[in-house]
Amino acid sequence: MERIVEIEKFSDEGSFENSIRPSKWDEYIGQEKIKKNLKVFIKASKKRDEALDHILFFGPPGLGKTTLAHLISFEMEANIKVTAAPMIEKSGDLAAILTNLEEGDILFIDEIHRLSPAIEEILYSAMEDFRLDIIIGSGPAAQTIKIDLPRFTLIGATTRAGMISNPLRERFGMHFRMQFYNPEELGRIVRNAALRLGKNIAEDASLEIAKRSRGTPRVALRLLKRVRDFAEVENEKSISLERTRYALEELGVNDKGFDELDLKLLNLLADAKGRPLGLSTIAAALSEDEGTIEDVIEPFLLANGYIERTARGRIATPKTYELLKLSPKMQGNLF
Ligand code: ADP
Repeated sequence: MERIVEIEKFSDEGSFENSIRPSKWDEYIGQEKIKKNLKVFIKASKKRDEALDHILFFGPPGLGKTTLAHLISFEMEANIKVTAAPMIEKSGDLAAILTNLEEGDILFIDEIHRLSPAIEEILYSAMEDFRLDIIIGSGPAAQTIKIDLPRFTLIGATTRAGMISNPLRERFGMHFRMQFYNPEELGRIVRNAALRLGKNIAEDASLEIAKRSRGTPRVALRLLKRVRDFAEVENEKSISLERTRYALEELGVNDKGFDELDLKLLNLLADAKGRPLGLSTIAAALSEDEGTIEDVIEPFLLANGYIERTARGRIATPKTYELLKLSPKMQGNLF
């Protein structure tokens, strides 16, 4: 199902995203704690003239992990090579990437939880000892080749904290968990992006987009792009609140930013009247795969108290019943 608040990256929107990607700390809004820590670590490693320790970012898609990796590379004045785990299929692919790195380079691996165990293993010695151990051939004729690597910084990003193996996790010196953004922060992101696109947007209009963006910059920027289209068709110089509301209604985004899939999930849980539902049951009922539900749909609903995860499964909260305007009778004897 196509989601207007879809958070995965679309290739046709790649250039749009890149054109408005912040390149200075000041332009990177929110995530204050992470920024503060990173600035200290960067300063210290520059002072010691050393490569930065390896860094791991956790968090749902679209919250700014890739952008942070780029900011770190600007700040370190280092080259950055960007790849994603599904693109590293064979050990030779990883070896080629690693042997092409130069001293101080940054290697960004997105979706790092998707590396195969064999490739992960190669990464261990590369991260720890800056050495590549490759086995060539098999059986008695097999040989191990050791290649020294330059000191580089690996930045890993994952949407699945629980799916990173312990040995890999331990090899990252720094771990950061990304937070959802509040409407005020998202409003600033929207206004900055609009300016960069050469368009003015009223403050209340940017806040309106912010409130409907599931706490996620990528969603806010995508909505801005669609709203801008509506304003341009009407030849409006500045995007008004009225136009924004109209466009968002037309696009079917509700005023909490929930889309059809969110509401389907909440309705499903509410219908269960307090009986916990397991992930596989939810996935089957929504015709979605479990990964999408865990990575993309659930985190925002959990963070905002619309779902509770118990040992036996997911349940709706009083807030959900309130949102869905269900009568107390429907809620069973839960509350
Ligand atoms: P992730 O890697 O977590 O999926 P990205 O770094 O690709 O997310 O961010 C998605 C989009 O949102 C990018 O276009 C980026 O410019 C914008 N963005 C993300 N975080 C911020 C932020 N804190 N301030 C401004 N723009 C942001």
